[in-house]
Amino acid sequence: MARYINAVCRLCRREREKLFLKGTKCSTEKCPITKRSYAPGQHGQSRTKFSNYGLQLRAKQKVKRIYGVLERQFRRYFYIAAKSKGVTGKILLQQLERRLDNVVFRLGLALSRAQARQIVRHNFIYINSKRVNIPSYQVDKDDLIQLKAKEKALNKIKENLEVSKDRAVSSWLEFNAAAFSAKVLRLPEKEDIRQPIQEQLIVELYSK
Ligand code: SF4
Repeated sequence: MARYINAVCRLCRREREKLFLKGTKCSTEKCPITKRSYAPGQHGQSRTKFSNYGLQLRAKQKVKRIYGVLERQFRRYFYIAAKSKGVTGKILLQQLERRLDNVVFRLGLALSRAQARQIVRHNFIYINSKRVNIPSYQVDKDDLIQLKAKEKALNKIKENLEVSKDRAVSSWLEFNAAAFSAKVLRLPEKEDIRQPIQEQLIVELYSK
């Protein structure tokens, strides 16, 4: 399973905005965006006026980076969305939001999606009493998500919950912190994603 392993702050700098890829560090002044809010590389500081294509490309890259998805998988999400009944952009975002690693992050069990992915890969997550260790697994309405981890890992996850306690859990999920379990109340809507995303530009890009 391929994943991006280079410096993630470069990704935020490329998009010229905070994508919150690194957990607690993102809220401190150590965040490189606060000092260098221009793209990395030799020409990073040159003024760029984006063409239509450039805007569409940046919109797509930003969403891929937020969710930690590479091009091939992202394109697959688009084709599934395009073939489904309904609004393509909405279904595309729904698929990203329904990813198990994103759900673990949204519940506050992890401080970033990368950490959430690790929690899933380490076999700590059960869905409807079955172990699931696939970060891209799509949760569905009425799914019961449970965390079962040994003491050391559980302590770390408790720390994460403490740090993220001010970050409200998305309203499409119901979290029981005492039992380390959650229920999927409904499928997510665009309003549940707190970062600004221009999915229409992505649809235009792939529809060419
Ligand atoms: Fe992005 Fe966080 Fe790095 Fe800042 S600290 S550039 S928000 S990943």
